[in-house]
Amino acid sequence: MAKAVYPGSFDPITLGHMDVIKRASELFDELTVAVLNNSTKTPLFSVDERVNMLQEVCADLPNVRVDHFSGLTADYVIKNGFNSIIRGLRAVTDFEYELQMAQTNRKLAPRADTVFLTTSLEYAYLSSTTVREVAYYGGDISRFVPEGIDKIIYEKYKDIKKK
Ligand code: ADP
Repeated sequence: MAKAVYPGSFDPITLGHMDVIKRASELFDELTVAVLNNSTKTPLFSVDERVNMLQEVCADLPNVRVDHFSGLTADYVIKNGFNSIIRGLRAVTDFEYELQMAQTNRKLAPRADTVFLTTSLEYAYLSSTTVREVAYYGGDISRFVPEGIDKIIYEKYKDIKKK
């Protein structure tokens, strides 16, 4: 069985991520979207919040499950027996970092291959950082994130600004 994992921060999930999830779910028998709990970045959303949002937007995709992990992606891949690691490529700026990471993971987890899906052009500009920035200043993010997620992001900034 071809089992793939799509690891990332998903802070928050965007339509760019969603496009990669849908396309990868058609290529593999089983796809796990895994939230990386990365201690070097201070996230906007907790791991649980990000997992909940992903579960909500992936509910209609029967072969997609959502998980989270910390530590090395390669260790998580070996432990769970994934054959492939999915990553998205938007522009050349992604390429150098992604290539380096893919080659490192290939050394650490030789049984798994990194599979790159190039972004659908309408999402090429889209990143979680952009979404956070636009939302912080109250701009319209409804065309950047899956339905219902915009409200959760606005609420989060409302709470933060109250403090
Ligand atoms: P990370 O912190 O691991 O880069 P992200 O959540 O920002 O996590 O991204 C996860 C993966 O999704 C990365 O491979 C990234 O290149 C890809 N990605 C992000 N936005 C898009 C997009 N708009 N189109 C295609 N791939 C994307």
